[in-house]
Amino acid sequence: MKCPVCGAIYRPVKGSRGSVEQKNNDYTQETTITSPSSFPTPHSQTCRRCKADLSDLLSLHDQAIWYHRQALHLLSKGRYPEAATHNAQALALYYSNADFHALAGKLSAFQGEWREAIASWQQALKFDPQNAIASDSLQMIKLMATHPLDTQISDLL
Ligand SMILES: [Zn+2]
Repeated sequence: MKCPVCGAIYRPVKGSRGSVEQKNNDYTQETTITSPSSFPTPHSQTCRRCKADLSDLLSLHDQAIWYHRQALHLLSKGRYPEAATHNAQALALYYSNADFHALAGKLSAFQGEWREAIASWQQALKFDPQNAIASDSLQMIKLMATHPLDTQISDLL
């Protein structure tokens, strides 16, 4: 995420991200976790460079991450349309996150919507040219498109 005042970029810390994902893996009742009360508690934080208050932004970002994690969880259960709905919520809150677009692409691909998938992956690479999921997927699509039997996909590129 980015400080709206001075433009400083903050990336999630690898270690803390891992521990939260670990916690999410313990979810067993996915139908009961749609309540907003299960959002992570917003924490107060100021920009290290310009000292602007980032807590509102962070809580929005946390909510977006929360939706994204639900989407990943639903994806692992094969519930693609629900996963897509949750990921769309994440994107509505935080549009410039490449991972959200990458997942949107994956979900579209799983549902056979190649045009949307390609658009999402291209969008992901716009926000993060290093995004591995998006670049690998597009690479794979291009390989598939060079296959003589599959002209449908090459028409989309
Ligand atoms: Zn700042």
